[in-house]
Order: sequence, then structure tokens, then C-alpha cells
Amino acid sequence: MTSARAATTRWIFAGQLGDLFDDGGPMLLIEARSVLRRRPIHRAKAHLILSAIRHRAAELGDRVEFHQVENYSEVTRGRDDLEVIDPTSYAARRTVRRLGARVLPSRGFVTSEEDFAAWAASRGNGRLLLEDFYRDTRTRTGLLMEGQSPVGGQWNYDHDNRQPPPKNAVSLGLPDPRWPVEDDIDAGVRADLDRWQAAGDIRLVGDDGPRRFAATGEEAHAALADFIETRLGDFGTFEDATLTGDWTMAHSLLSAPMNLGLLDPRHVVETAAAEYANGNAPLASAEGFVRQIAGWRDYVWHLYWHLGEGYRTGHNALRATVDLPREFVELDAATIEANCLKHSIGGLRERGWAHHIQRLMVIGNWALQRGYDPVQLNDWFTDMFVDGTPWVMPANVIGMSQHADGGIVATKPYASGGAYIDRMTDYCGGCRFNPKKRLGPDACPYTAGYWAFLDRVEPALRGNHRMSQPLAGLRRLADREDVVQQERERDGFH
Ligand code: FAD
Repeated sequence: MTSARAATTRWIFAGQLGDLFDDGGPMLLIEARSVLRRRPIHRAKAHLILSAIRHRAAELGDRVEFHQVENYSEVTRGRDDLEVIDPTSYAARRTVRRLGARVLPSRGFVTSEEDFAAWAASRGNGRLLLEDFYRDTRTRTGLLMEGQSPVGGQWNYDHDNRQPPPKNAVSLGLPDPRWPVEDDIDAGVRADLDRWQAAGDIRLVGDDGPRRFAATGEEAHAALADFIETRLGDFGTFEDATLTGDWTMAHSLLSAPMNLGLLDPRHVVETAAAEYANGNAPLASAEGFVRQIAGWRDYVWHLYWHLGEGYRTGHNALRATVDLPREFVELDAATIEANCLKHSIGGLRERGWAHHIQRLMVIGNWALQRGYDPVQLNDWFTDMFVDGTPWVMPANVIGMSQHADGGIVATKPYASGGAYIDRMTDYCGGCRFNPKKRLGPDACPYTAGYWAFLDRVEPALRGNHRMSQPLAGLRRLADREDVVQQERERDGFH
């Protein structure tokens, strides 16, 4: 008779494709086409997910039952031998519980759900601030710590980091990232996508192109090593900077492999911390990078559960109800005139990826100013970005970017005019709009849009003390009515 352990099959999901989710027993992996049918999806994202699933199936060989079906239930119905590592969405958690699968604690983050619960409980009724959570995580894990104190005596190097791009530079001049090499599995994925698209089975958006993100553990580790060797040193300094001719800047490009479960984020941050300890990376860069992962990534993951399933649809504090425009839905940058937005949407079309400032201060800022429906925007981000997942989006989009939650995640809206974009990017030089102008044919839509946004949301933000200065500025604006009228009449993207 086989033991109870041997009879158990580990069902792994698309966010659990690396060794971290493998304890050596038999596995079940299902490629369910219905998942791709739900909404239009970026071609690069569909390709990456299918490629990663099929590569994992090939790696696991006869240790995995691999099924390519329409729905999960065709395979899982009636089975009582399944165990899962708690999956990463409310829907998946419901499915595995309905099935009666044995559920193990989630993995794939620096801190556990238990750690976060203990920390949140320790705050009582106080706000759950990223900075406090991050310090607690550093202390708990010993990352970049000397005893109870942060290495170097400071928790935060924002002052050294986040510099504008170098003047007159076309790029940071760093070596081109090492890209994965496509294989027969990718060719098979591409052929399937072509066939399904032609048959009208799935709706793909965005360009086909070489796969740029890791689909296997081996590729993910190579991408990490490449980042550590060639870009970590500049990560902090240029974390928030943008150059038209340098789409990766010094970013790691590791969100997709981490979200697919191919890289253990704890290993990623420990590698960056060791690089500092060995004298190979400045502390400000190593700390800035560790903060993004052990801080932000873990924080938004825990907030997904903490804020509850209703958080995504349950808030619209700024009464934003405009449907997403065709330019977003179809990723069509051809008629967008603002250089920064054209470039960000165009880059997204090409690669299914944009860096943080393009997501937050260009695309998100545009949507915020124009009052796009936050749920539509949340789901669009999920479907159009290679690293988009249900858990990562609500805190980032509903909370941080759109302020739809009225201040639960971020204390004020991330709205800014063209001056910020002009300082942190080289977009404005080649743009037909002038970031300094809010009125007239060359008025920057971000600058004018900023004031029109404040005018629209003034009643909702009146009680927010962090907005009192901008709102006072609005009230002093002699041409307020003209700017609002101009933006009302502006033909979308022109
Ligand atoms: P780097 O700049 O190299 O940063 C290192 C890592 O930090 C990232 O790989 C990521 O894992 C983590 N990180 C940093 N900030 C965040 C954050 N706010 N939330 C979660 N992780 C963070 N991240 C995703 O993983 N998937 C998304 O779909 C996604 N959508 C976003 C949408 C909006 C509107 C905003 C404001 C942020 C979003 N982010 C998302 C966070 C961040 O922009 C991306 O993680 C980052 O741009 C990915 O590129 P990278 O791996 O080169 O990151």
C-alpha cells in the first residue's frame, strides 16, 4: 500500500512554476485555455505564461501530469489527492477549497502572511504604512542590518536616489540586458497563439516579438545575475528617471519571473545585499532595490488579502467614470501627441512592459487626470503587462495610482503636471506641447490636465491636509475657468 504522502499530487499554478514550489513529489500542471479567453490580453503576456507553463512541464518530465484543456475542472473534478500551495488570487483560493484540496501556506514572498498579520495586529488601529512594514521586515529578516540598526545608519537613501537622467544623454550607456533565447517551445506557443487568434478564440493585443522575459528558473537566474553585474550599481540613482532611447534604464526586469514563481524574492534581495557587503554595489542602490521587493512587493501582496476581495470594485472616491479610450484598449499610440504618453503606450504595445515611472507618473497620471474608471484601468493593467496579476494591481492602481480608495493606501493622489515629467525625463524636449504652459494650443495636457483634475476633485479632497497647498494654488489661478474649459474641449489625445 502506498503512504498517504506518496498519494498526494501537488497542483501548481502559473505563479508557482519554480523550484520554490517543488518539494519533490508528483505534480499536476494544467494549461487551461479559458483563462486566456476572459478578456483581451497582451500577446507578449499570453506568450510568456504559456511558454513558462510548457517549459516547466518539460523540466518536470514524468514527475508531472500535464494537461492542456479548456477548463481546470475537466482535470480536477472528483479528485481527492490534490494538495496546493495557497494560490495567489481570491478566485483560485475559492476553487481549491471547493475541491477540498489540502492547502499549504503561500510561498513566493519575503515575508509570510503570518508575519504580516502579526505586524498589522501590532499597529492596533494605526495606519499600515509601507515604511513601517519595510523596517519591520528588515529587522525580522536581518537584511542590510547590523544588529537592530540599518547598515550605514539610515533606513532610506531616497535623497541619493531618484536623480533626473544625466543631461544630454541618450541612454545610461549600460550593457544591453542579456535576453533569453527562444526555443521550440516558444515556436509552438507562437503557432498556437496565431491559430487561436485567427479562429477568434482569444483576443490578443500588442505586438508579437521576441520573448524578453525569463520563462524558466535557469533563465530567471541568468537575468538576476545579469542585473546584479551590470545594472544594480545604477539602480538607485536612476530609479525614477526616464530616457526615450533607453527603455530598460537600470531596472531589473525581474517582476515577471518573480510573479511566475521562477525566482525566490528572498534570494533576489539577499543577492543584492551581498553585492553591497562585498563592496560591489553602493548601499543606496542595494537598499533602494531591497526596498522595492522586501518593502513594496510584499506590502502590496499582503494588502491584497488585508483589504479584502471587495476592495477592487468597492471604491470610487473621485467619482471617475470615463470608459478607457480606444488608444488604451488597443494600445494604439499612433495618434497620441504627448510624447511621454505616446512613448509609454507605444513601448507597452511593443513589449508588454513599462517601468515604474511610466506606469505611475505617465499612464496612471493621465488616467487619473481624465477620470478613467478605476476598475477598468485595474483590469487593463492586469491584462496588458507581462507581470500583471490580480494581487499586484489593486493596491497599485485602485490605491496608489488612482486614489479611488480615498486614501487607504496613499495619503494623496499621484497627480502631477508636466514639470515633473520634464525634470525626470527627456520626453518634453521632443514634444509639441510645452510643460510650462497650461493655456493655448501648445499647453501641456499634463500641466493643464493637473489643474482641471484639481478643479474636478476639489470637493472630494478638501479635507485632505496634504492637498491643501495644491488646492490653494488652484484657487489663486487667475485663468482657472479657461484652463478647465480648454481641457473639457480638448479632443482626447490631441
Ligand atoms: P524594478 O524597478 O527593477 O524593481 C524591482 C522589483 O520591485 C520589481 O521587479 C517588483 O517586483 C518590485 N516592485 C517595485 N515596486 C512595486 C510595487 N509598487 N508593487 C509591486 N512590486 C513592486 N508590478 C508588478 O509586479 N506587476 C504589475 O502588474 C505592476 N503594475 C503596476 C501598475 C502601476 C500603476 C504601478 C504604479 C506599479 C505597478 N507595478 C507592478 C510595480 C512596478 O512598477 C513594477 O514591479 C516594475 O516596474 C517592474 O519592473 P522591474 O522588474 O524592472 O522593476
